[in-house]
Amino acid sequence: MPQKKLAVTLLSHTPDALSLIYASFRQCYHAGYVGDLWERLLAGETPREKQAAFVERILSSGHESPVEHVSFSFAVEGVSRALTHQLVRHRIASYSQQSQRYVDASDMDYILPPAVARIPEARARFEAFIREAGEAYKDIQTILKENGRGAKANEDARFVLPNAAETKIVVTMNCRSLLHFFELRCCMRAQWEIRAMADRMLALCREALPVIFAAGGAKCERLGYCPEDEQFSCGKYPIREKILSNPS
Ligand SMILES: Cc1cc2nc3c(=O)[nH]c(=O)nc-3n(C[C@H](O)[C@H](O)[C@H](O)COP(=O)(O)OP(=O)(O)OC[C@H]3O[C@@H](n4cnc5c(N)ncnc54)[C@H](O)[C@@H]3O)c2cc1C
Repeated sequence: MPQKKLAVTLLSHTPDALSLIYASFRQCYHAGYVGDLWERLLAGETPREKQAAFVERILSSGHESPVEHVSFSFAVEGVSRALTHQLVRHRIASYSQQSQRYVDASDMDYILPPAVARIPEARARFEAFIREAGEAYKDIQTILKENGRGAKANEDARFVLPNAAETKIVVTMNCRSLLHFFELRCCMRAQWEIRAMADRMLALCREALPVIFAAGGAKCERLGYCPEDEQFSCGKYPIREKILSNPS
């Protein structure tokens, strides 16, 4: 029953991403057909810097739908069920998560919150509970099997697994959905675990497609102010009310 650390891997993203976004924007303003332009685009007729500048300019005007044509797929492990419950609330995405029905959790890994890890008394109590939950899982699984539940024993025994139970998930989002996800989950208001995962995803996106993601991140980075109330603001940027009452 080891403690598990976060890992985020970029599995794949839509190929020729910049050109695809550029072509999609171009189709909106171009009298001709971008299907005729595509091969020339891939052959380098329009330099990448020119494509990037065009995309940046149109995107900053708030015209966002063309970035939906490019998607990123990530594999994530070393996250808790508490995290994935929050993650799957993002509906404009696709998910494939490790099943607690089919995968035996007898040797369940778990996620230890850093604040718990720092306090020996809290850590000892936390780990004792994890051991107890693991024992209860195995006992119930065994009893159910002895009573004819067979391969279905896991799906009932899992009811005693805690939010801390480690899980693995594959997630796919398009660029527009990712930008929205980063606005919410890279914010200091977001819970620490999902923020750590979102920060890793953003770093991978920035490397792969900087034209879209260089300016990605918490909402305040784009707005230049914090849209939260004073009580929730991390203080990195002034809140909107402060700017409005002191516009210098
Ligand atoms: C700091 C923080 C605290 C939170 N606390 C809670 C909490 O206490 N309880 C709780 O239940 N949730 C909570 N949430 C989850 C939050 O309410 C959202 O469910 C979650 O962030 C997904 O965001 P989304 O709906 O914008 O994303 P997506 O589901 O990916 O949707 C993206 C966008 O599509 C549009 N959209 C999608 N579906 C619809 C629809 N049915 N109707 C209209 N427009 C739609 C919206 O514009 C939406 O922003 C919290 C989130 C954060 C970041």
